[in-house]
Amino acid sequence: MLDPITDPGVLQGYLTDASNLAGGHAEALVRPRTTQEVCEVVHHCQQRGIALTITAGRTSTTGAAVPFGGWLLSTEHLDQVEHLGEDRAIAQAGVRLGALQDEIEARGRLFPPDPTSRYDCTLGAAIACNASGARSFRYGPTRPWIEALEVVLPTGQAIWATRNDPIPADWPRPSWTEPPVKTAAGYAPTANLLDLFIGHEGTLGVITRAELRLTIRPDAVLGVLAWFADRAQAVRFMEHARRRLREDPTDPLSPRCIEYLDHHCVQLIQERVGGVPEGAGAALFCEQEVVGEAEHLEAWFEALSDFSGPLAADTLITEDEPSRRRLHAMRHAIPAGINERVVRNGMPKVGTDLAVPDAALHTMFEAYEACPLPHLIFGHLGDNHLHCNVLPTTAAELELARRWYRELSERAIALGGTISAEHGVGKLKRELLAQQVGEATLLEFQALKRHLDPAWILGRGNLLSPPDVAFSERSL
Ligand SMILES: Cc1cc2nc3c(=O)[nH]c(=O)nc-3n(C[C@H](O)[C@H](O)[C@H](O)COP(=O)(O)OP(=O)(O)OC[C@H]3O[C@@H](n4cnc5c(N)ncnc54)[C@H](O)[C@@H]3O)c2cc1C
Repeated sequence: MLDPITDPGVLQGYLTDASNLAGGHAEALVRPRTTQEVCEVVHHCQQRGIALTITAGRTSTTGAAVPFGGWLLSTEHLDQVEHLGEDRAIAQAGVRLGALQDEIEARGRLFPPDPTSRYDCTLGAAIACNASGARSFRYGPTRPWIEALEVVLPTGQAIWATRNDPIPADWPRPSWTEPPVKTAAGYAPTANLLDLFIGHEGTLGVITRAELRLTIRPDAVLGVLAWFADRAQAVRFMEHARRRLREDPTDPLSPRCIEYLDHHCVQLIQERVGGVPEGAGAALFCEQEVVGEAEHLEAWFEALSDFSGPLAADTLITEDEPSRRRLHAMRHAIPAGINERVVRNGMPKVGTDLAVPDAALHTMFEAYEACPLPHLIFGHLGDNHLHCNVLPTTAAELELARRWYRELSERAIALGGTISAEHGVGKLKRELLAQQVGEATLLEFQALKRHLDPAWILGRGNLLSPPDVAFSERSL
């Protein structure tokens, strides 16, 4: 078996992720290069009851990659792209998602899942967390783009799982009903082996290799920044565009993403870049794929004139390089402005990741907008999935923001939504997951986990509270 690395100086670089969850610690690190090496390490840990946390790009915002004792298994050397074909690609789990996508797109094909972190995160973790992005509005999350997975089970046995393989009859199976929204919370209620290993957040196995389904790369993509007088007007346009996409994915107005920017974001753009038209109180950033000769521009301008009136004349469409640069600067103003304020405040931001059914969007918007602290709302409006970023300036405000987040999550659950649309549950949202799924489902999740992982070694503290360990880390 691989010699574990125990040098504290090396281990130090693996103890945190993007959640800033404190207190991570581990005794050893292994960096396997082959599936066989993964099998040996996992078997060794299972036999001795050593907790094993899989660590990849460490961009998790929920503490999922933070170890609380035991060993770390890094996927960084599982970094080979093994096959790039017309309809399929095969790669090891540790390849960077964005770099792999660039290679695929250079060949005229597309692997759609596009988490914002795609150049920093890995393929295996995107699958383990069923990651999504802006264009999931058109293409869905990672799940439908996976054809097969090689997984090392918590006992150390490697299996190859496809959607045609049923879950073995003696495995406990989650039987709950997921909310009918974009969601990344909890084990999938599925009968097939493949779907069980998508979205398990490193608790049911180590994904070592994946076969991906590819589609056509569009000839071009138009970026559109459309201005609206207020939120209501922007939502009406989104509903119109969403209806057209759902009815006919080849409609000349069939966006692949619809991203909302509230009036605080619009104000930030004006402060940092300028150029916001008079009377604009909200905006939508959209992308339209261009395939063949469809009359996209006419369709967009016609609809925008109907919904945003005179502001339609100020719509920014990326037809040339200067408008592309301008749109990029306007979009970049928001994360850059937020980061600047976080540094100035000396307090972390608290960001939501909730999604609700179509009918609950309005109610949820009112709840976001009633936030008692400075905040900005943006995100995946087409999926009723918004990131409300709250910016506390004191420790007391941070506590208030976290309390408010919990209340808002309960609201989303009551409205038939999910506590996580894309970032997952990790260690910070276990209690919220328990609230969402209820006691009976939680027991099913625990039974499955115990069956596959008798010593409860993999991803301890993610999704479920380990039975024998008092975890002291914070929750939201
Ligand atoms: C700026 C920023 C933007 C983000 N934007 C998005 C977004 O748009 N959409 C989105 O969905 N998420 C987003 N995220 C969250 C995060 O990037 C994703 O969850 C991503 O999939 C994590 O990948 P990673 O390689 O960094 O994994 P890590 O953070 O290292 O690990 C995440 C989890 O996956 C498990 N894991 C890792 N590799 C494997 C494997 N091979 N087999 C089994 N389990 C494994 C780990 O144990 C851990 O539980 C964002 C994060 C940041 C910081």
